[in-house]
Amino acid sequence: MQEESMRAQSGQRPVFRFAPSPNGRMHLGHALSAILNYDMAAEAGGSFLLRIENIDLSRCTPEYEAAVYDDLAWLGLRWDDPVRRQSEHLDTYAAVLEELVDRDLVYPSFMTRGEVKAVVGDYEAAGGIWPRDPEGSPHYPDQDRRRSPAERKELLARGVRHAWRLDMEKAVAFVGRPLAWRETGKGTEHGVEADPSAWGDVVLSRSDAPSSYHLSVVVDDASQGITHVVRGMDLFHATSLHRLLQELLGLHEPVYHHHRLIKGEDGRKLSKSNGSTALSDLRQAGVSPAQIRRCIGL
Ligand code: GLU
Repeated sequence: MQEESMRAQSGQRPVFRFAPSPNGRMHLGHALSAILNYDMAAEAGGSFLLRIENIDLSRCTPEYEAAVYDDLAWLGLRWDDPVRRQSEHLDTYAAVLEELVDRDLVYPSFMTRGEVKAVVGDYEAAGGIWPRDPEGSPHYPDQDRRRSPAERKELLARGVRHAWRLDMEKAVAFVGRPLAWRETGKGTEHGVEADPSAWGDVVLSRSDAPSSYHLSVVVDDASQGITHVVRGMDLFHATSLHRLLQELLGLHEPVYHHHRLIKGEDGRKLSKSNGSTALSDLRQAGVSPAQIRRCIGL
């Protein structure tokens, strides 16, 4: 990717970011993402920012966050200040959610996972095909979406546990035109048609967490002025949703680059529980940052 073309695309200095969640040790897959972002930012004469995606306070710890800084520094990466820590911006996400509530684009949903499973199970047992999202989870049933404002108010007033979900049909209708994004993951830039409806009524906020990944990622990419989102192929389909949210909220649209994933020996995507490729273990075993680069094909 050439510096000139990047500048022409965005009309501003390119800004890249690496956005790990400190809920486990970083592995080779994180190294690939971080180094790619860093190298692409350097090549484009842009900046490289860091974001700590720690809205899930039950799983993210200060120790894992400290390890992120250590591992990245060991890999030889430097980032521009300030680091954005999502836990310091919960009010911002809450305000954006509030705006969507006011615009009637989200609704409170009250069904538990078990209740959803039962509805879907009954439907499928009767021979029906229930729609599923790109990750294989069933779409949320429409009972709660069809509730009257009075009913919703009453359930909320009773303190019934709930999550806020995007009313996908309304959101898509509000935007009123097909969406796409610019993708450079396969080399040359091309347009990819977004299909947000494939996700159904996604959760934007839960009672036990003030925001969801999808809501905070688009708010943060805009707040940090990100022009290029470089991340794993596992988030390719999520980009459909991110484009819809950007459009609803009037946020700037970055260029996307979804990169290959590093597979474990079993052929599956690496996970944080798979200790054998943890960067800290490799470092302790005497592996050098240059060897890490070679090992992940850079
Ligand atoms: N926090 C996400 C992860 O660790 C990455 C999100 C993104 O790059 O958009 O998988």
